[in-house]
Amino acid sequence: MSAICVYCASGPVDKNYLELAAQTGAAIAGAGHTLVSGGGSVGMMGALVRGARAAGGYTIGIIPEHLMRAEVADTDSDELIVTDTMRERKRLMDELSEGFIILPGGIGTLEELFETWTGGFLGVHSKPMALVNYDDFYTPILAWLADLTTRGFVARHAVDRLQVVGDVGAALAIADSTVR
Ligand code: AMP
Repeated sequence: MSAICVYCASGPVDKNYLELAAQTGAAIAGAGHTLVSGGGSVGMMGALVRGARAAGGYTIGIIPEHLMRAEVADTDSDELIVTDTMRERKRLMDELSEGFIILPGGIGTLEELFETWTGGFLGVHSKPMALVNYDDFYTPILAWLADLTTRGFVARHAVDRLQVVGDVGAALAIADSTVR
């Protein structure tokens, strides 16, 4: 199964960010891949799945039962998997996907960024992951990580593993590099 997981914001965001999410969904669909998402239809998550389906893509949403109302479960999804817990949601999102794209987001997205990144670094998985630094969204945290590297808290080769890109096309080229 060719599937790419996208992590992004559930919160209200401006139209440029919604457009970025929609473009990402459309690009994944256009490349013939399945989109794996968090199964919500709010914020960028909603724009992402609608963008994918508008481009003819197949979407799988995975959402914990307790968030179905808050994140407005994406009932239009081709497959909507409802889990008992957040941990189960993340496990399935990881398991079903062959690559990851991280768009701008809040604490949920940041948690997913760090878990996916550290998992790759520690050898828990070997799936590609692209971080989209749209609008310099992640520049402050990348600067902080660079400082932590200089100070010896973070290994340089850990930071070097982060594949930071500026646009969706470059992200897709990385995320689908093993999906052939
Ligand atoms: P946010 O980036 O905070 O807007 O959240 C984006 C998505 O991440 C939402 O679907 C959240 O439910 C999800 N999320 C929030 N906290 C966590 C967590 N600890 N682990 C995994 N996903 C989370």
